Amino acid sequence: MAYDKKNIFARILRGEIPCQKLYEDGFAIAFADINPQAPTHVLVIPTGPYESLDDFTEQGTVAEIAGFWRAVGRVARQLGVAETGYRILANTGPDAHQEVQHFHVHLFAGKKLGPMLAK
Ligand code: AMP
Repeated sequence: MAYDKKNIFARILRGEIPCQKLYEDGFAIAFADINPQAPTHVLVIPTGPYESLDDFTEQGTVAEIAGFWRAVGRVARQLGVAETGYRILANTGPDAHQEVQHFHVHLFAGKKLGPMLAK
């Protein structure tokens, strides 16, 4: 499937719609999730046009991949949750209920997050 340039995160990257931006560098931006599922719920997205984790890691350059994951760690430290703990989640495809077709990771923190998956 071709990357859809009209997806909501692409529009955020282009500055067409606002977001509560928490971090930005050449490889990634992070912003608050509009519908938070934890006291801290942040989305980290690469600046390039990739629709999923497997697309990103296959098509992205080594610099983009390294820069993105470095940014995720920096966001965790900047948020002050690296010590207390956090969870990273990347929904990918229909079975995982990926709603926005631009690769993103959710960063959840700020409470005991419990078991990984509901039954
Ligand atoms: P998913 O694709 O299922 O991994 O999740 C997409 C996430 O994007 C959901 O948690 C939404 O609440 C979030 N979201 C959708 N639109 C926006 C927006 N404009 N600003 C911030 N978060 C958003």
